[in-house]
Formats: sequence, structure tokens, C-alpha cells
Amino acid sequence: MSAPTASRYVVVGAGIHGLSTAYHLAKELRTRGTGSGADVVVLDKSSPGAGASGIACGVVRNNYFQPAMSELMQACVEVWESDPAAYHYNPVGYIALGAAVQEPDLTATYDRQEQIGYRSELIVGVPQVDAHMKSLFPDWRAQDVTICLHEHQGGFAFNMDSVLGLAGKCESENVTILSGVEVEEIELGGDGVATAVRTNRGRIEIGEQLVLAPGPWAKQFWGMLGLPQTIDIRTPTGDVARDQPMWTYWNLQEGEIAVDPQAFATANGGPPPVIHLDTDAPLLGDDGKLITDELWGIYFKRDRHGVQGGASPLVVDGDVALDPYPQTTNVDSGFADMWCAGLSHAMSRFEGCRAAYRDARSGGIGAFTADNFPVFDYVKPNVYAILDSNHGYKMIGVGREVAKVLVGEHSSLLYPFRFERFATGDLHPVSQSPYPWS
Ligand SMILES: Cc1cc2nc3c(=O)[nH]c(=O)nc-3n(C[C@H](O)[C@H](O)[C@H](O)COP(=O)(O)OP(=O)(O)OC[C@H]3O[C@@H](n4cnc5c(N)ncnc54)[C@H](O)[C@@H]3O)c2cc1C
Repeated sequence: MSAPTASRYVVVGAGIHGLSTAYHLAKELRTRGTGSGADVVVLDKSSPGAGASGIACGVVRNNYFQPAMSELMQACVEVWESDPAAYHYNPVGYIALGAAVQEPDLTATYDRQEQIGYRSELIVGVPQVDAHMKSLFPDWRAQDVTICLHEHQGGFAFNMDSVLGLAGKCESENVTILSGVEVEEIELGGDGVATAVRTNRGRIEIGEQLVLAPGPWAKQFWGMLGLPQTIDIRTPTGDVARDQPMWTYWNLQEGEIAVDPQAFATANGGPPPVIHLDTDAPLLGDDGKLITDELWGIYFKRDRHGVQGGASPLVVDGDVALDPYPQTTNVDSGFADMWCAGLSHAMSRFEGCRAAYRDARSGGIGAFTADNFPVFDYVKPNVYAILDSNHGYKMIGVGREVAKVLVGEHSSLLYPFRFERFATGDLHPVSQSPYPWS
């Protein structure tokens, strides 16, 4: 299909955010009688799901210490639950197990979930957590875990299938999705209004608004708009941290073991919740060798062909070549040993699973903002940016909120993620988690 020369709404990026925005925008326009999906074009330099959305582990959870993240995530889970078949969503729940240092955070998170009506339970104390986990998995053997947040909503979705499900919904609303169209430049008028995008397939005039949903390529678009690569950040105490990099990269380490997926089931044969275990118990390999005696963590879920998951990401020093994505992944050579030892530490059914580890298409680079939380905001008068700081496969509902903003409504869920927070000090609280995304 040839690229149009103009479109009322141009969305860049056919990942979870670009497609969700396009679909919900089309619906908004149709139901308001102010237009339709024919007014929306989505451009992707590759194809739907070619970015982070197509490689994500697919975990959908609400375990966020920050009130604004938790409330937004609840809205996102609502979207996942609205059509599990199309989104290939598995509502199996999610369990976060923590060390003593995480108790205050997980307790606060649970309290908030109670307040907002997100279904979860909190189990505190080593014997209590052990009993809860053994009731689900009789071979549970992780020692000294002091707290467990069991979310009865959430779970995971199959990454590529859900992207294609969203693409199908876009097409059913007459949205045009164009693959192989790379945006190389954004034309800005003197007033900062974006008038057109220049692509490898020609110039496309922007009738009204441009939406950027570029995932890990956020920094490139930030540059195209002439926005600052370093910023000053006012902290809630009033101090100002000067010249902080707006964008950093982390390498998400993930892998899988090729085992019978049905062997990872609950005691009653049901599908297992996604599990995230953080602990300060010493981690030993199956050969008894110490891997670490510092706080470590892994997450894992049942996948189609085995068990898939990851561990703490690695900071990338400086810039990184993102293309071809995600073959740029460069995991720590010790990752497979550590992750498989973690599985075996958790459940005896995984003892010896290192032999079943395989180098699958897993892991990839994520782009993070200066405070590791998303920026959802207008960055030019008619340019809305969805820059999720790698939080966002689960954030399928952000597009629904952005669509409302594009047609002139306010979104109280997106408001805490405005770019202005760095200047005003209206930052999100920071948790004790070793991960940059909690
Ligand atoms: C290994 C890994 C595991 C993850 N696991 C999870 C998880 O379990 N749960 C979770 O919630 N999040 C997870 N994330 C984060 C999540 O995947 C991302 O936050 C989310 O997918 C970003 O979606 P997006 O739509 O913004 O970007 P993407 O899905 O990356 O889409 C951006 C699109 O923009 C296109 N593009 C880029 N530049 C241009 C250009 N110049 N012109 C046109 N098109 C362009 C790309 O081809 C791409 O298709 C994970 C991330 C990684 C890397």
C-alpha cells in the first residue's frame, strides 16, 4: 500500500501504545460522530510488534509502589480483561515475593490496591508465605521469604499475538497501518506545531495531531524534535540535580527453559500465576557453588514451549545501536546460570533445569527516562509523546487515555506523567526494589 500524502492523525510506531492509541482514537471519533479510523494512519519502519512489544515477557501486574502507576495499571488491566481472546491474555494472576527490606513497599502497595479495589492478598511472615506457596506448589522450597503480594488480577499475554490482536482491532475500525515507513524528520512550524513527517516513502502532512509511540527509539524522536538531551531535575526536597541525561538504556535479560509447560502447574493442575521472587537468601547452583549472597531476583511464567522469564536488567553505558532490534541484546554470560539456579531455588521441579536452558529470542534493550517513569504528554503543541520508560507492554490502556486527550478531554490517570514534573519536583516516590521499573 502506498503512503498517503496527508492524514488527520499520524501515529508513529506499531507497538502496544501506537496501536492501542489508534484503535481507541478511531472508536472515540466514530462514537462522537467526529470522524473515524479512516482519519488515522499508523507508520512503522518495520512492522507491528517489531519493537519491544513483540519481545516483552508479557507480564501484566499492578505491583507498583507509586500511586499513579498503580491506578493507571488498574485501568490497563481493565482493557486486558475486556477482550482476553483478542489480546491473548492469560488472567492467571501475579505473585511478588520479597525480602524483609521490601516489606514496607509491598505492604503500602497492597493497601493501595485494597483502596482502589484491585483484587489481591498480602501474606506476611516466613511460615505463612511458605504455607501459601506450598498450597500452590507443593515443591516450593525458597527459604526465608518474608512477604508475598498475591495479585488475583493480571497475569501475562502472548506478546506478538496481542499486538496482532490490536492491529486487527485497528483494521476493523478502518485505521491504516503501514509497515516499512520510516520517519526520518519531523517538520515544525515557527510556533512549534508539527506540520508533516518526512519518511523514506515521502512526505505526509499532519492534518491535526502527531502521536509518537517509538518505544526504545524514544531518544531519536526526542532529538528530531530538538528537545534537550540533558535536563535539570527538581527533587521533592527542592534540590536541583543539574544536567541529568534524559535517556538511558538498560539491557533486559531474559531467557527460557525448554520443559513441558504442563509440568509447571499449580497443585490442582491449574495454570500458574506469574512469579517474581526477590530474596537475600544465598543463591547456590545445583552443584552447590555460591552464585551470590546479595539480594537477587528472578521472574518467570509458563510459556507455550516451556518456562520463560528474566532477572535484573543491566545498565548500558552510554548510547547503543538499536537496530536491528532486538538482536543487539548482550546478556551477562552468567545470566543463564543465575536464572536457572533461581528457578531451582524456588521449586524442586526445576532442579537441573540449566541443561534445558536455550538461547531463544528473548531479552532486549529498553529506553528509560531521567526518573525511570513514563512521560505521557504533549511535547509540542500538536505532538503527543507516549514514552513509557520500558514499563509498558502491560500498559495497553494508555492508548485509551491518550485517545481521550487527543479529542480534548483531560486524563487524570496520565496527568502525573507530564514532562513538567522534572521542573516542578512533582516526582513519583521511589521504592526499595532493585528493579528500575517498580
Ligand atoms: C525484553 C523485554 C521484556 C519486557 N517485558 C515486559 C513485560 O513483561 N511487561 C511489560 O509491561 N513490559 C515489558 N517490557 C517493556 C515493554 O515491552 C515496552 O515498554 C513496550 O512494549 C513499549 O511499547 P511501544 O509501543 O512504546 O514501543 P515498541 O513496541 O518498541 O514499538 C515502537 C515501534 O516504533 C517503530 N519505530 C521506531 N523508529 C521508527 C521510525 N523512525 N519510523 C517509524 N517507526 C519507527 C519500531 O519499529 C517499533 O515497531 C519489556 C521490554 C523488553 C525489551
